[in-house]
Amino acid sequence: MRVLITGGAGFLGSHLTDAFIREGNEVFILDTGSSFKIRHLLDNARFHFVHDTVFNLEMLESLIIKCDLIYHMAAVVGVEHYVADPYAVLNVNINGTQNVLRLAHKHNRKVVFTSTSEVYGRNPKVPWDEDDDRVLGSTRIDRWCYSTSKAAGEHFCHAYRKMGLPVVIVRYFNAYGPRLDRVDVGRVLTIFIGQLLRNEPITVIGDGSQTRCFTYIDDAIRATVAAGLKPEAEGEIINIGTDVETTISELAETMIRVSGAASKIKFVAEESVYGKSYEDIQRRVPRVEKMHRILGVKADTPLEEGVRQTWEWFRAMAQ
Ligand code: UDP
Repeated sequence: MRVLITGGAGFLGSHLTDAFIREGNEVFILDTGSSFKIRHLLDNARFHFVHDTVFNLEMLESLIIKCDLIYHMAAVVGVEHYVADPYAVLNVNINGTQNVLRLAHKHNRKVVFTSTSEVYGRNPKVPWDEDDDRVLGSTRIDRWCYSTSKAAGEHFCHAYRKMGLPVVIVRYFNAYGPRLDRVDVGRVLTIFIGQLLRNEPITVIGDGSQTRCFTYIDDAIRATVAAGLKPEAEGEIINIGTDVETTISELAETMIRVSGAASKIKFVAEESVYGKSYEDIQRRVPRVEKMHRILGVKADTPLEEGVRQTWEWFRAMAQ
């Protein structure tokens, strides 16, 4: 099979590429980013890295025509961007998605759209069922531009499905693992890893009681592959994650233990890290019944094990 993965050089995309290559498929990735996360594949004859954007319609169309299945993962992701460059978030995530869907529809190719648990916003009623409400703050709070952009992408998916496009929507819950972001930037795990590598204090925001369901990359990828291959997934929205909640304080303690670093926890104010244009989410928990039933996958890698794999990868990179 030939698979197109937009954003295939990113964290999720590179692991998904590995999975399809491992199974003997041919993979085309379309990505504007660096080849760092897929550099081990550059010599593989079944792997093709097209360094371009989803706004290059000619290129995009030629790839869509070649491929049997499309994963649309190209997006501007990362809390630092939501606040620093909301325009890029909205433009790429909404208009770029529309380009992919329009051309996939024209050539009748199945699309898996990778969305996010951010779509649910801060709905206090957890765990979240795929059809639960989205609860967002004011449009003046830049944080919500990412959630809104992905929700708009999902609406486009539903609209194109009504016009006959085969489409699946998946929503990730704090996926983590080797190749996640860069140390010190992006998500809580990589920020903590940077601090651990230097034996600095671990900056837990607020009182550390906020929770996330940290989902190990291998589990997330098994579910993502199934979302593209299982006919039963078509037309569905499916949460991808574990429903085991971890407080940020527990995460910090686990990471200190696994790394053996001399770091201690330091509680800091939310504004000192993200500025005013941000709102944290207290709890984020998926209902995972659909993932189990339709995709046949359970995200059961224990946090300690996933953190160990991730820490070891980043430590090796830092040497
Ligand atoms: N967080 C933290 N210290 C940091 C960075 C993040 O305590 O240095 C917290 C943040 O407040 C949030 C959680 O870690 O509650 C997860 O943040 P992340 O940016 O990884 O992504 P989110 O799950 O909020 O999208």
